[in-house]
Amino acid sequence: MSEKPWEGKYYSFFCNKKCEYFPCHKTKDTDNFNCLFCYCPLYTLGDRCGGNFQYTEKGIKDCTNCSLPHKKENYGYIIGKYAEIMELARRS
Ligand code: SF4
Repeated sequence: MSEKPWEGKYYSFFCNKKCEYFPCHKTKDTDNFNCLFCYCPLYTLGDRCGGNFQYTEKGIKDCTNCSLPHKKENYGYIIGKYAEIMELARRS
């Protein structure tokens, strides 16, 4: 059995080339541009997301140069961070 059971599955990838903003980040590989995580679920993790972000002078996290959520092969990475996201939502 594959170590990545999500590989090649429809639930782990879709590409919406009809989107008015496609591709919303620079890419040379539009066929493998994953739109599933449009509005990155890792944004809320701040500097722990693992992506290529920077902070503006006003402290706003800027993801302009990050393509992590749009790479097909990163589905597992994103899903693997959900425990951290859920921890943020836990009632304290
Ligand atoms: S830097 Fe990349 S991985 Fe991090 S929140 Fe932004 S888009 Fe998501």
